[in-house]
Amino acid sequence: MAFAGGLAAAGFDDRFDGSTLRVDLVHHGCASEEGYSLLELRREGAWAGSRVHLVDPTNLGCHQVRLYDLATNALIYSRGFCTLFGEWQATDEAKVLSRGFVEPVLLPMPKAPVQLVIAKRDRRNVFHQLHSQVIDPADANIRTDLRLSGTPIHVLKDAGDPATALDVAIVGEGYAAAEGDKCLADGRRFAAMLLAARPFDRYAESLSVRLVCPASPVTGPDEPLKGRHGASPAGCSFNTFGSPRYLTSEDGRAMRDLAGLVPYDALMVMVNFSRYGGGGIFNQFSIFVSDNEYDDYVFIHEFGHAFAGLADEYYTAGMAEEYYPPGVEPWEPNITVDPVNLKWKALVPPEVPLPTPAEARYAAAVGAFEGGGYREKGIWRPAQDCRMFSKSYQEFCPVCMAAIESVLKLYTQ
Ligand SMILES: [Zn+2]
Repeated sequence: MAFAGGLAAAGFDDRFDGSTLRVDLVHHGCASEEGYSLLELRREGAWAGSRVHLVDPTNLGCHQVRLYDLATNALIYSRGFCTLFGEWQATDEAKVLSRGFVEPVLLPMPKAPVQLVIAKRDRRNVFHQLHSQVIDPADANIRTDLRLSGTPIHVLKDAGDPATALDVAIVGEGYAAAEGDKCLADGRRFAAMLLAARPFDRYAESLSVRLVCPASPVTGPDEPLKGRHGASPAGCSFNTFGSPRYLTSEDGRAMRDLAGLVPYDALMVMVNFSRYGGGGIFNQFSIFVSDNEYDDYVFIHEFGHAFAGLADEYYTAGMAEEYYPPGVEPWEPNITVDPVNLKWKALVPPEVPLPTPAEARYAAAVGAFEGGGYREKGIWRPAQDCRMFSKSYQEFCPVCMAAIESVLKLYTQ
């Protein structure tokens, strides 16, 4: 196991050829076991990610993908991410059944053979290796064909060179062939919302938004409880893991085939529907509906999960989900189990006590307020209200804002 390889010393062009390597993996297992199997390797278009920040400095994510140069064992690229499979492992179904989810991973295409490693945190947040394989960029089995070419594409905002822009791909989902104009109008509306939302507004010059509008055989996503299985292009469905409002796609390949028609760092799926729902998984996807009264809130909230690994700050009275093990500091930047030695202490004014009582005089303060991460007790959040806390509030708290900005810099520098 080669976790301790040296940091990348050579430049991007020495190591990588400028295109994108997509590794389609099947993440499989049950509640107590998991592993990865290779499905397919693909060469896609120009690498849209940073050419400077190759080794991930953020330590965000439940999993990490790492590339080691095979000749020198140097760590040349890494990124954190989370998975839908990881959430599924906590369900009752995973106690009695094994399943597999297709999880593509995007990487800069290496010039020389590499070792690909996928690692995962345990309940105490220590990383362990789950998968390892060698990838030779000269392998003739690396596919180069573009599926779905001919799908309509619209550039909604162009910030130039993808290497120094945050490139957002919005995939329109559940738009029938006659709804192409609606897809474009909806895409423009959400692109404008993103560009106006703090702190993204301050980076608007470095933000590109491209829209992919495949024609769907049906309007809207699947609704299994209503017997709707419509084969929409990105495979989106309500009722993920039995939760009526949880709208995701288990078809990572379909989403990535569509998004891969444009250069992208962040994948959004815009679902043509009016029922409340959405989902966001860190460095995988954010999914939102187009026509709900809370659509602006869901859109940005889910992107908070998907883009910056933000935790939900909400809970309800009596809630005591075991999603975050007691006593283990979550890797998410906006919740903590330690309200005294606080990881966001630099943002707390000296007059604010820690932990902080939920009183009106601290309504706008950064502190440590008990309740968050689906628990009423034992987890603290940075502010009384935030986009990650309630669906009526229209700003991120300062801690979430700072976390988003640190990730924005990874893409725009
Ligand atoms: Zn927050």
